[in-house]
Amino acid sequence: MHYHQYYPVDVINGPGTRATLFVSGCEHQCPGCYNQSTWRLDGGKPFDEAMSDRIIHDLNDSRIKRRGLSLSGGDPLHPANVPHVLALVKRVRTECPGKDIWCWTGYLLADLSPAQRELVALLDVLVDGRFEKALADPGLLWRGSSNQMVHDLNAWRKGGERIPCLVCS
Ligand code: SF4
Repeated sequence: MHYHQYYPVDVINGPGTRATLFVSGCEHQCPGCYNQSTWRLDGGKPFDEAMSDRIIHDLNDSRIKRRGLSLSGGDPLHPANVPHVLALVKRVRTECPGKDIWCWTGYLLADLSPAQRELVALLDVLVDGRFEKALADPGLLWRGSSNQMVHDLNAWRKGGERIPCLVCS
């Protein structure tokens, strides 16, 4: 996997202070995408063990308290990225207790493959759906267009019949 950008301190992509990784590779090609430079899988820099170690270190750094990790792109759920993102998410779960994990994808939650679902099972929040230019609204929280949903996966796991949207419900 390659990554396009890493922000060790970020207050834009998700709630609170976070670390944010923008991976490379997206096959959705949404018209109006503001991140077209992340579409190529081989763009950016290789995501290696040192980068994974850095994210774990940053999340555990008590000098700047981060609420969690945000995964964006590109698309972290691109099939070629899934094994690598899954490995990172597993590390965060075991080595960074108490941190939440948010992920943005152009795929729809209902359409995910078994491999993508295995990864999503370890997330707290999934923001899903392609960016739709006609539904774009800069006033929306944590999403670019109103078709996208901010799914509270923890509420759903606790027994909700539908997956609540953190901003709509
Ligand atoms: S899913 Fe996101 S990164 Fe991919 S094309 Fe759409 S807006 Fe761009």
